[in-house]
Amino acid sequence: MTGTGERHAVVVGGSLAGMLTALVLSAHARVTVVERDRLDDPAGAGPRPGIPQARHTHVFVEGGQLALESLLPGILGELSARGALPVGMPYDMVQHQSGRWYERFAASTRLLSCTRALLDTVVRERVLAEGGVELLAGTEVTGLVGDAERVRGVRVRKRGAAEDPYEIEADLVVDASGRSTRVPTWLGEIGAEAPDQETIDTGQGYATQLYRPRPDAEDTGYHCLYFLPDTEQPLTGVVLRVEGGLWVASLSGPRGSEAPTDPAAFLDFARRFPHPYLREWLSTMEPLGSVHSNRSTANIRRYYERPGRRPAGLLAIGDALCAFNPIYGQGMTVAAQQAVALRKVLGAAGTGGRGAGGAVTGGRGDAAPGGRRFGRGGRRTRDVQRVLAGVTETAWAISAGADRAIPGVESTGPGPNALDRLTGRYLRRVAAIVPGDPGAGRHYRSVLSLTAPPARLLHPRVALPALFRAPRATPGEPPLVVEGWRGGEG
Ligand SMILES: Cc1cc2nc3c(=O)[nH]c(=O)nc-3n(C[C@H](O)[C@H](O)[C@H](O)COP(=O)(O)OP(=O)(O)OC[C@H]3O[C@@H](n4cnc5c(N)ncnc54)[C@H](O)[C@@H]3O)c2cc1C
Repeated sequence: MTGTGERHAVVVGGSLAGMLTALVLSAHARVTVVERDRLDDPAGAGPRPGIPQARHTHVFVEGGQLALESLLPGILGELSARGALPVGMPYDMVQHQSGRWYERFAASTRLLSCTRALLDTVVRERVLAEGGVELLAGTEVTGLVGDAERVRGVRVRKRGAAEDPYEIEADLVVDASGRSTRVPTWLGEIGAEAPDQETIDTGQGYATQLYRPRPDAEDTGYHCLYFLPDTEQPLTGVVLRVEGGLWVASLSGPRGSEAPTDPAAFLDFARRFPHPYLREWLSTMEPLGSVHSNRSTANIRRYYERPGRRPAGLLAIGDALCAFNPIYGQGMTVAAQQAVALRKVLGAAGTGGRGAGGAVTGGRGDAAPGGRRFGRGGRRTRDVQRVLAGVTETAWAISAGADRAIPGVESTGPGPNALDRLTGRYLRRVAAIVPGDPGAGRHYRSVLSLTAPPARLLHPRVALPALFRAPRATPGEPPLVVEGWRGGEG
């Protein structure tokens, strides 16, 4: 408890995981989000240095949308009203994989497409409007205060100001500072142990360009053009319509095939895809600004839930806990699902109001809502951490499982075993039937959208055609036109 008697939680990082965590904690404590970036762009949005990945395509799959809506009811409607688009899969998409174009069947799930700037702005506005959360922007956390038994706060410094660094007392500190978190190092500074870390790095290199259609351009008959990689073809290309009539194109490839940022080389790179349509599409659009790259794409998992000399009162969430290769489009969804899980484990948020039911925090022997106790050398904190880690399992199985088998991958964990190789073979059979099979595709997409567990891929509707039938015929050319197409409605 702080000096005032009120419980206080500090969240490090004010991006998606940080703001949603703050919202959940605010039902139980006063919350301060400390964010290094200034966030004072007059338009209230726009790319910022702390989340360089925000310039690249960000799809928000259905599992994440459901989680976000349950945390902030009405937010999906608000995002749509501000220009975010539902992208029906596969109805609104032109997709190519392993030499085949997907049929554009009626949608079984929808992506939400908008820029990260729009998503983050709307989430931040909504969370701050709920009350109970203070945002300290332009302020950097530089270390933890406490010892190996218990974290008691953070050390911060105002960026660009002459003021001395100072400390903020807290009963609970949550690390939501993203994949480059320095918390493992800071743990060493207070005499505690960093968590075990597993890294699986394919060296995926992104390059992204924003586009505007030329004034005389006809509207496309789809919202997304998507080239998927396979064992023979390592490149990924996503072209996505976002708010304001703009499009974002992200091209990427693993180590040795990274997409370049020189504009001419970027266009040339598009020639390496297995069909000329991608290159043609890019050359009909008007590029805006420069091509941006991102190479921070490794799968990184930090095992805080494992035994170790770590203090009570510290949690990790979002990319700071587990970051994924972004080609699988999972990070934002897992962050939102973790916030929902945190709400559940702490007791129903909003039922008793702020401070009701006791502490959410890490103080030794404090009673948390629902009678849970934190503290005792981190034992209870670790229970919560275990729940958060559990939320990452499906997404980790998808991205780490696939990436372990990529040639040239650099990994600190075990390589693929016999079971992984068998699973890989089965998944390739599934991927081969999905473009022409709406029933199998529905189950496949529910797993990729993080609304169903991987076991769903053993459903007879998937397993039987995958194992015993030849893939059905699919379009020979890009299916650019669907009669009567009305985006998002199929
Ligand atoms: C190229 C690329 C494409 C991606 N595409 C997708 C996609 O299509 N779909 C999807 O779901 N996910 C995607 N992701 C993942 C997604 O960006 C993250 O999962 C998501 O941003 C949630 O992360 P976070 O809130 O945990 O961390 P971040 O968004 O990385 O935010 C961390 C925050 O902490 C702040 N911070 C850092 N250090 C400090 C400090 N010391 N003090 C104070 N503040 C600090 C930063 O300024 C930042 O605001 C992509 C990622 C990359 C790299």
